[in-house]
Amino acid sequence: MTTTVRSPDEFAAAIEQHYIESSDDARQVIVGLQGESRFADIYETYAHLYTREQLDALGAARAAATDEVERDRLNRLWFEAADSVASGEVVREAQDLMNAQLAWRGTFEGEEISINGLGALLASEADYDRRERAYALLCEADDEFAPREVELAARSQELRSEVFGLDGEIAIAEARMGIDLQRFSDQVQEVSARTADAYAAQADTLFPAILGRDERRPSRAHAAFIRSLHHWDHVFTQERLAEVCALTVAELGFPLDQIPTILPDLEDRPEKDPRACVIPVRVPEEVHLIVRPTGGITDYQAFLHEAGHALHFGLTSDQLPFEHRYVSPDNALTEIYSYVVERITHEPLWHERHFGLSRADAERVCAESAFVDASLFRRYGAKLRYELAFWRDPRDPKNPERYSEYLATATRMGYPTSQFASDMDPGLYAADYLRAWRTSAQVIEWLRREHGEDWFLDGKAADFLRDLFVQGSLPSNEEVSVQIGSSADDFDDLAAHLAP
Ligand SMILES: [Zn+2]
Repeated sequence: MTTTVRSPDEFAAAIEQHYIESSDDARQVIVGLQGESRFADIYETYAHLYTREQLDALGAARAAATDEVERDRLNRLWFEAADSVASGEVVREAQDLMNAQLAWRGTFEGEEISINGLGALLASEADYDRRERAYALLCEADDEFAPREVELAARSQELRSEVFGLDGEIAIAEARMGIDLQRFSDQVQEVSARTADAYAAQADTLFPAILGRDERRPSRAHAAFIRSLHHWDHVFTQERLAEVCALTVAELGFPLDQIPTILPDLEDRPEKDPRACVIPVRVPEEVHLIVRPTGGITDYQAFLHEAGHALHFGLTSDQLPFEHRYVSPDNALTEIYSYVVERITHEPLWHERHFGLSRADAERVCAESAFVDASLFRRYGAKLRYELAFWRDPRDPKNPERYSEYLATATRMGYPTSQFASDMDPGLYAADYLRAWRTSAQVIEWLRREHGEDWFLDGKAADFLRDLFVQGSLPSNEEVSVQIGSSADDFDDLAAHLAP
């Protein structure tokens, strides 16, 4: 058999088709329209693209590039190709595992329930004991799948190390992101330590107040419920979700009804993933904004978060090459945009305008939202620290204990060991979220200095954001920080946001 080695442009055009097909498959599964994922079947029809010869040819083209943007473009293509070459041997196993998780059914109070069904229930269930029981059932599912997850992670890391010529997932992620992950994690731990007392003081008051019982170290069973701030549900109703969010984004300067490339999906289907997301099937032409409303302020936050991503992908210039339009070395850039748009819900003025709250109530909601945000930041900081340890040896029997200890200490919540393998994001995504936490805090402080408290109104921030969106995935997260006169080593704006 002879293998065809394609030119970089031909290769990019071919894999774009692969990505479009697999993104659409992922979308159908996530929104609950398709019970099984087919990504390994789709991979097979494109497997002929992913050869060592092709990878070598892309590497040679990258080495020969004289222009910096061109080298960056070819580097991204090489990384995409290496991902796919390395996944060839494990893609079937990964699909089987994912489909087994989708097909898993437990019995909850006599009714069959899926993993996604349990996730949605945990966010909305008002009864404390029912949440504990639902969470125990979810942990059973995690215990059942953990050995397969660990084996897949370990095997995949071995294959990837060999193909990338790098020592493990941490080195691969560092090469991709262009940062020193251990140093970055240490900086994040320092911010966590700096804001720990303020967080503890709030937790001691807010956990018992939200849960309605004297519980200062609640289990993770209640994390999604606490985050939802359901005592404000009468304000943040499901009926007003689409209208208020569309208006908010329009006031920011981006009327969604004039951006036909962004397609919202707010249906509540039983198999739909409770975690909101954006799936850019075609960039910029077809961007799906997916939210499963579970009630309350988190629906608004999820919608606006995903709207930030959707605006980024939907307003990317169609003149850019595939590598700067569709492919990104990491997610730290797009997460800045999602965080900035979501942070509008942290502005008292937004609550006064759209919900008629008094200034005092608006400030109360914002203080509680800031606490929830601090809790999530601490969780992700601990996740990064844990994931850096996990990838040093996925089979280390100490990983479950380590997971539970790191997460519990940081968040002041009880974490069982069961989710040590499932509560992980691919490619050390936790670091991308944390980079975005830092840079979005800088951007918001900068916008506030430039435009005042109402930076999110009258299209004041629109030119700045549109100039960034149009560049697709070209700038790095850290370059945005530098552009506004800040620096990647400056965490002061973030610390001030987390511990006001
Ligand atoms: Zn996001």
